[in-house]
Amino acid sequence: MAKRDYYEILELNKNATEDEIKKSYRRLAKKYHPDLNKGDKSAEEKFKEISEAYEVLMDKNKKANYDTYGHAGVNNNFGREGFEWNHFTHFSDLEDIFGRGFGSGGFGDSIFDIFFGSSGQRGESYRPQRGRDLKTSISITLEEAYTGTKKSIKMTKGLKCSDCHGTGSKGGMPPKVCPACGGSGRVQARKDTVFGTFATVTVCNTCGGRGKVIVEKCPKCSGTGSVRGEKTINIDIPKGIENGNTLRISQEGEIGSVGGPPGDLYVEIRIIPHNIFKRENADLIYLQSIGVAQAALGCSLSVPTIGGRANVKVPAGTQPDTILRLKGKGMPKIRGYGTGDLLIKIVVEIPKNITSEEKDLLKKYAQIRKENIN
Ligand SMILES: [Zn+2]
Ligand SMILES: [Zn+2]
Repeated sequence: MAKRDYYEILELNKNATEDEIKKSYRRLAKKYHPDLNKGDKSAEEKFKEISEAYEVLMDKNKKANYDTYGHAGVNNNFGREGFEWNHFTHFSDLEDIFGRGFGSGGFGDSIFDIFFGSSGQRGESYRPQRGRDLKTSISITLEEAYTGTKKSIKMTKGLKCSDCHGTGSKGGMPPKVCPACGGSGRVQARKDTVFGTFATVTVCNTCGGRGKVIVEKCPKCSGTGSVRGEKTINIDIPKGIENGNTLRISQEGEIGSVGGPPGDLYVEIRIIPHNIFKRENADLIYLQSIGVAQAALGCSLSVPTIGGRANVKVPAGTQPDTILRLKGKGMPKIRGYGTGDLLIKIVVEIPKNITSEEKDLLKKYAQIRKENIN
């Protein structure tokens, strides 16, 4: 079936002015209003048809294309299925015609039911968006991990605009309900297919899905509700924290959009490798060099620990790589209670540059032990 001429649909001649187009649409919209034509499918179709014509003829570019090329000039403005209600950008005119409540629960509510199928989703109100989570990392020393510490970091992120208090609306004026979607942030469109009629839901073009539109944008934040700035964030780092652990700092992520809650900040903890201690979970490992005589005869040593010095007894006959354990001298455990140990790994040093006196003594020792040194 050939598509009808838009001017003919709106009962206009080709030279109609914008005013005449408006008037004609107004008149016909009232005539084909589904509430006044209950159950009349053709009235619904007519209403959609005049709205499509209105959509094209009210737009300078679309109108020029249509005037020159006919339907071929404007068809690609609409989807494969042709004009659908989500292409319609003049809901505010319908609001003028049918009253302010149009599409938002007042008069004209049924129009949405009829055109957009069952409107179960329309009651769902606009939900502010939660802000993005942010990630950063911070380096601390092993000593700081041992005691726990406080750090402050500077983050550049979106902050609530002070002029509009995050509303994006000049002077903090509350935004008004989007006239196009009635505040739901979405528009339901009916699709006719060979299988029947389906309602599809698309994001509202007018409000970008927010359900609210700003009357006048805040000049400071250009209506976004946030400005980029630097914020100092204090972080409590618990004792016993391990390299690679991540702390979640609640609500210190990016600001939410239009009053939504902020995201969280995730701080990865990096522990700078220590000069003398190696860490294995809650235990610390320390390499202690001793001489041959100390290993053979045993000795008492003072060793460093993460919390200060401690004494350790090296028993006589200690072999290389022996591990001596100092209970409770390691790191605090981050999960659960208690403290790890300090593991002292014994390295027996064989003397390299020896004096002639030492040489004599070792030779004598070898003779006694019957060790062949030739
Ligand atoms: Zn602002
Ligand atoms: Zn909207």
